[in-house]
Amino acid sequence: MTEGRSKGMLVVSNARDGSGGTIDLVISEGTIRAIGPGGAKETSDDVPRFDAEGGIVCQPFVDGHLHLDKTLIGLPFFPHVEGETIAARIEAEKRIRRQASGPIQMRGGRLIEQIVARGTLALRSHVDVDSGIGLKGLESVLSLKESHGHLVDIQTVAFPQSGVMRDAGTADLLDAAIAAGADLVGGLDPAGVDNDIDGHLDAIFAIASKHGVGLDIHLHDAGALGAFELRQIATRTRALGLEGKVAVSHAFCLGELGDADFGRTAEALAEAGVAIMTTGPGPVPMPPVKRLKSIGVRVFCGSDNIRDAWSPFGNGDMLERAGIVCDRQNFRSDADLEEAFALTTEAPAAVLGRSNSLQVGARADFQILPASSIAEAVASRPMDRAVFRNGVMLARGGRLLQAGV
Ligand SMILES: [Zn+2]
Repeated sequence: MTEGRSKGMLVVSNARDGSGGTIDLVISEGTIRAIGPGGAKETSDDVPRFDAEGGIVCQPFVDGHLHLDKTLIGLPFFPHVEGETIAARIEAEKRIRRQASGPIQMRGGRLIEQIVARGTLALRSHVDVDSGIGLKGLESVLSLKESHGHLVDIQTVAFPQSGVMRDAGTADLLDAAIAAGADLVGGLDPAGVDNDIDGHLDAIFAIASKHGVGLDIHLHDAGALGAFELRQIATRTRALGLEGKVAVSHAFCLGELGDADFGRTAEALAEAGVAIMTTGPGPVPMPPVKRLKSIGVRVFCGSDNIRDAWSPFGNGDMLERAGIVCDRQNFRSDADLEEAFALTTEAPAAVLGRSNSLQVGARADFQILPASSIAEAVASRPMDRAVFRNGVMLARGGRLLQAGV
């Protein structure tokens, strides 16, 4: 067993792959050098070893959607403030965040440490950009990329939480956010928040096209209106050659459309390579995972709000997230549970443009779960996980190791 920042050799023995076969991993300089049966026998006895005790070795989690700037983790529990509409919730959040002490670096840092301990090694964080906060939140999250870069890879989305058209100057701020280092342009309910579908989408797509970056748009608008907006997003994606670089988060409307409207909307998303992020939400409609994937739409998972003004719940545990998806989609078979697991590993990794496979030559980022199969891990959601990054163990049993901090 090894701990700390050493990038030397490590052998992980007595592990199992997803299908139950016994394998060893040989790692050196943060890279997987061998993976398969019997690798441990071919290395000398003085190489540090980690006994996986029959646990499965699998890819780390990737959280495709959260908000490092919003979380109130690290502060005393904050009672939830009700809000009937999105606009009311936006105003309630501003009041709460004015009252909350504790900088984003502390709160976001605590959240990163919590999710790394649960096996997440990459994430996409939306960061509020509006006329009130300007780029301050983004600057804080970009500083987290530096301070916590040894734990997790962070991708940022400049998120117009207060709208683009209704909050004058936000389009210029989004443009400045990308210039300052944000990775993608965000959006929010072009109809429901801004009441101007063309104005909102034209503005954010123009910024993305100008900088050659992707987009990730929050869409809560329901029913036929939301479906129309999805098709508008798909049309603009193709027109600007942004296929594969655009995601829509939530898209609850996909869970409530009739067959004809669903079919033409899903086909438009597939043709444009627009991915759909879902949290497996309740009690609102959820995009149907298998139906979308059968048409060729990429679906991936994220945590979204964790202990913030929008929700007092959440812990960033992506294994729990996979279980929530199973509950909502009535997934029961092993194949279904593996599909849910992929929504928290391979699928978000692909959307974030990352390689996340366990193979020779890949970065030694992986986790070991005490289960006989992926399906059992999803079903039992064990916390006794060993989390490795660059071949170094960062966390075990749901706790970050001191040496990894
Ligand atoms: Zn969100």
